[in-house]
Amino acid sequence: MPNRPYIVGNWKMNGTRAQMAEARAIDRGAARHAGVRVGIAPPFTLISTMVEAVQVLIVGGQDCHARISGAFTGDVSAVMLKDVGAGFVIVGHSERRSMHGESDADVKAKAQAALEAGLEVIVCVGETEAQRDAGQAEAVVCAQLDGSLPREEGVAQRVTVAYEPVWAIGTGRVASPDDVRAMHAAIRARLIALYGDGAAAVRILYGGSVNAGNAAELFAVDEVGGALVGGASLTADSFLSIVTAADPALD
Ligand code: PEP
Repeated sequence: MPNRPYIVGNWKMNGTRAQMAEARAIDRGAARHAGVRVGIAPPFTLISTMVEAVQVLIVGGQDCHARISGAFTGDVSAVMLKDVGAGFVIVGHSERRSMHGESDADVKAKAQAALEAGLEVIVCVGETEAQRDAGQAEAVVCAQLDGSLPREEGVAQRVTVAYEPVWAIGTGRVASPDDVRAMHAAIRARLIALYGDGAAAVRILYGGSVNAGNAAELFAVDEVGGALVGGASLTADSFLSIVTAADPALD
């Protein structure tokens, strides 16, 4: 697994230009943590502005269309994201899967489009509470990996997996360290089956109500290579506390 932890903020449908003050403050703070890779995925409307305003943050999209261009009203392509300076895109977030009916095949097509456009891609997977209660969590997540991850030669270098239990997103509930350890081990095993030696390049992030209070405990878990952070990424104070917790120089 790459050594440098990766902390990514997903601003979802939050933020107007006024929010750029937080982005600049996050950028200044991230510059003091060279041992941590830090990204923000703002709404599409802020990507270009944010790219121009920051020095060290990697700016990304929260979704992209699988096609390069065409009659897809309201959609944005990976090529367009790349064109305005994005470095990555998140695909398969549970809110896209549940609210927009995206299947694993849709997610895979988007991930392939992103890679072809020259972006890195963060592929989200995670079980619902009912699936966990039924003892299906690992099977569900492994099936999502099988169906959502692009497999072309050499792509693993630009793929990150985010394990986000659906029941932990935006709820204040966090998976226990033991459950995270077990799931990340299962994901790593699946990545090895899919990518062979290339799997070593893939970080596995945890996401789901990560905050300043629980980040250090999560980052201490084997195979947790960072975090995908929603609510706590909206202010510099809370997001930088998570970045600080991930900094290996401060262990
Ligand atoms: C997310 O939406 O990816 C997420 C993890 O949200 P939150 O941190 O708010 O649970």
